[in-house]
Amino acid sequence: MLFSESDSFQRAKIKILYILLVFSILKTLIVIPFVWYHDQFLQLSRVVVLLVFYIILLKFLLAKSISVIKLSHLLLWGGIFLIWSNIFFFAKTVNIIVIQFIFTMVLGSFFLISRRFGVFYSVLAFFPIAIFILTKGRIEVFNQTEGALVSPAYEMIVIFNFITIIVIHDLFNNAFTKNVQEKVKLNNKLEEALVKANEAAKSKADFLSTMSHELRTPLNSVIGMTDLLLDNPFSDDQAETIKALKFSAVSLHSLINDILDYNKIGSDKLKLEAVSVNLNTLVKDICNGLNIQTKEKGIQLILNLDERLHNIHVITDPTRVSQIIYNLAGNAIKFTASGSVKINLNVIKRDAEKVNVKFSVVDTGLGIMEEDQKRIFEPFSQASVSTTRNFGGTGLGLAIVKKLVNMLNSEIRLESKIGEGSDFSFDVSFVIDHNPRIINLVDDNEIYDLKNLKVLAAEDNAMNRLLLKKVFSKWGNEIVFAENGLEAIEKASSNDFDVILMDLHMPLVDGYEATKSIRKVEDSKKANIHIIALTASVSNDMETKIKESGMDDYIYKPFNAKEMYVKLKAILPN
Ligand code: ADP
Repeated sequence: MLFSESDSFQRAKIKILYILLVFSILKTLIVIPFVWYHDQFLQLSRVVVLLVFYIILLKFLLAKSISVIKLSHLLLWGGIFLIWSNIFFFAKTVNIIVIQFIFTMVLGSFFLISRRFGVFYSVLAFFPIAIFILTKGRIEVFNQTEGALVSPAYEMIVIFNFITIIVIHDLFNNAFTKNVQEKVKLNNKLEEALVKANEAAKSKADFLSTMSHELRTPLNSVIGMTDLLLDNPFSDDQAETIKALKFSAVSLHSLINDILDYNKIGSDKLKLEAVSVNLNTLVKDICNGLNIQTKEKGIQLILNLDERLHNIHVITDPTRVSQIIYNLAGNAIKFTASGSVKINLNVIKRDAEKVNVKFSVVDTGLGIMEEDQKRIFEPFSQASVSTTRNFGGTGLGLAIVKKLVNMLNSEIRLESKIGEGSDFSFDVSFVIDHNPRIINLVDDNEIYDLKNLKVLAAEDNAMNRLLLKKVFSKWGNEIVFAENGLEAIEKASSNDFDVILMDLHMPLVDGYEATKSIRKVEDSKKANIHIIALTASVSNDMETKIKESGMDDYIYKPFNAKEMYVKLKAILPN
């Protein structure tokens, strides 16, 4: 337990109550014989009443039958009674005892109860003095009046009162110091816990990174190989089987990506990239990827782009924008049996610096019941239990979409009616890029040719080597391989390559270390060779580590052949 009722302040409060009650009882016991002896019967009756009152309170405190706060209130009302009766009835003046009582009241009310009650009781205690000053005009603290206590009881009470005030301060000071010490201890414990939590988070991240690598490496080969197979003519039957194989591999791959992404977004480690993008082109590319699915289902995929976006580039993270649209459109296609899926882009507002765009994905599919519309954005939730059975899926897609849309400073909206369809939309404000660097992408008719590029690929996985070999041979290129980091260093320092594709996880020497060694090779041409990391890893610090080790660029596995080609063509010597 970190905090408990019996913390140092609570203990100090109980001690203060004991001290106040015991001292008050002692004071009354001292006073009784004197007032009796001097026939001060009114004083005597007041003292006896107070004595009984204090004894009852002490009993309550010992029995713990009333809370400390309630006891404090009762005791303070006793004090108020003493002050008021002294000023207006007994001493009829403001003497030292009255002033001491007022101090004790102020201390007690603030320390024992709260600031609010502190002010309340202080005002009540001080009020008669204010009246006294207003009516009498002058206070003579040392003036002994007739109704006041007789000497030496008066002096003894003064001494006792001083002691009470000092003891209360001491107790509170003690509690304060202890409290600070407790806080320091607690802080240390928290720091320890934080270190442990960070370590746990790190090992989770490392585990994810390793797992992603282990899972994706074989999957990449499966996807790449099926792509190659599909490029060759086959009987229809075989083509169907290969397509089914590819569909499963791609689903599995996207599931792994979803889980990893969700973890990454959950740990707030995902950073958005800022790249110049033409939104119309981006969405068109996405639709090209979805066309096959809609054709297969016999539904229409309609793309409504806004003409005002044709000629502008905006700064955003294209991967994440695509991921949002892919997820929404993927769902729309999945849950629509007939009709259409529309992807709309509309400019809502545009000025010189910014453009506000509404994205919407509208389908004529199943629709979602109103009570499910909020829930489906939660991780691992689907509209109904039969969804998984009929359509598959994990229920992670919309949770990721929601978070990604939030990262773009927007909110996802949903309008849907059962049987009529769904409309998912969100608005994003983008900064316009007035000087976009137009990257020379390959046009669709270009013949892929990398005959003259000398490529070394450091790759330990035999299946991946085979895949690279096949892809590169289609581009007329004879790629050279190194099976581990050490071999990569040897080959890079004894041959002239134009580029190295560097896998990161490799036996003997990993990709980072191999790059560092290559950068130190004496021959400056060899040391400055263009190195592209080839990685299936998604660890959060991967990008920083790649840059630190001296690599120029990176490509995610499973690599997109077109992306790889564009990057390599850019370094092709003229
Ligand atoms: P998954 O599709 O993997 O199940 P999602 O988070 O993407 O996970 O979607 C959660 C659920 O929301 C789906 O299972 C489905 O029930 C519902 N849903 C999402 N999009 C649509 C849509 N366009 N039409 C009907 N239902 C949808």
